[in-house]
Amino acid sequence: MMKNNIGLYIHIPFCIRKCRYCDFLSFPGDYETRKAYTEALCGELKTRGEESPPADTVFIGGGTPSVLEEDLILKLGEAIRENFDVPAEAEFSIEANPGTLTKEKIKAFREIGVNRVSLGVQSLDDRLLETLGRIHRAGEAKDSYRMLREHGFNNINLDLMFALPGQTAGDWENTLKQAVALGPEHLSFYGLIFEEGTAFFEDLKAGRLTEADDDTDREMYHRALEILEAAGYRHYEISNASKPGLESRHNLKYWTMADYLGCGLGAHSYLDGVRFSNTEELKEYLEREEKTDRVHVNTEKDIREETIFTGLRLVEGLSKKLFRRVTGHEIREVYGPQIEKTIRQGLLEETEEAIRLTKKGLDLANAVMREFIEV
Ligand code: SF4
Repeated sequence: MMKNNIGLYIHIPFCIRKCRYCDFLSFPGDYETRKAYTEALCGELKTRGEESPPADTVFIGGGTPSVLEEDLILKLGEAIRENFDVPAEAEFSIEANPGTLTKEKIKAFREIGVNRVSLGVQSLDDRLLETLGRIHRAGEAKDSYRMLREHGFNNINLDLMFALPGQTAGDWENTLKQAVALGPEHLSFYGLIFEEGTAFFEDLKAGRLTEADDDTDREMYHRALEILEAAGYRHYEISNASKPGLESRHNLKYWTMADYLGCGLGAHSYLDGVRFSNTEELKEYLEREEKTDRVHVNTEKDIREETIFTGLRLVEGLSKKLFRRVTGHEIREVYGPQIEKTIRQGLLEETEEAIRLTKKGLDLANAVMREFIEV
């Protein structure tokens, strides 16, 4: 049987230093460590690529992939091309952070076929960047953006964060307007979460920082939607908007239960209904032939719930056809009472093709999702 194309995710765990809010699998590392890691990663790509279907999206994420030097970027690109069938029209993204990009690295991105760059801007307010513990300032973010444009990148995402400690609605609007003025094809906007184990979490507990209240958080979110929609962006996922037709094809795979393969430290995969993930220990990753650490065969209940949770993130909603294809059931058959209840509460709406969150439902997405957790 012909297999569907997959999304290929590649994790680069290195960063210059840890941001104060960050709970991603990332840490600093010297050149020798980065080199050894790239070699181990290329080895994994060789093993996993052998029997893989074509990858029509590739996403190099992190961490900060742009801390890799040109020689390592080229080596990684070569391993991707040699071991995976990546069609010419594939979306090939890389994450980059201001303060780590150089012309030489950007040229290396182009050489290996990258055609989309996701830039970790977070804020265009120097005071807030300092609070976040970012290594760069607003001016560097803009310089990086311009440099990417000068080198021909015509598909750029900017990552932004809101509900930051000490951020006013006016500060947020300012960042949004400056970001929109740059004219990126895609924007992501996430509300800050104080994750356990981060410096921010400790600061919060000790009373050195305060969390934005729900009203402020929602006001900022709504303001983002207004500004982005007025500037011609289409809001297509809870936290993402793009120029029409330039949605992130790789992330859409996550939101539609498509297959993806993750390579690199701690990377997660979902293939043929099986979730598996690699070791999160660098030493083990470098030394062990077998990188997989955990395997979980999804039960039918897992599949139903995941299809709901990911599908409802999309503004156009969860397609009934997709639900039927993935789970083998009609959505009403499984979730009739939950759908009725959330429609009555004004949180969900139903069309012939899909169920989707209403405006109110988008604000209370977590509460809606909880209704669909089966006990
Ligand atoms: S750059 Fe990103 S991954 Fe690295 S420490 Fe900061 S938030 Fe975490």
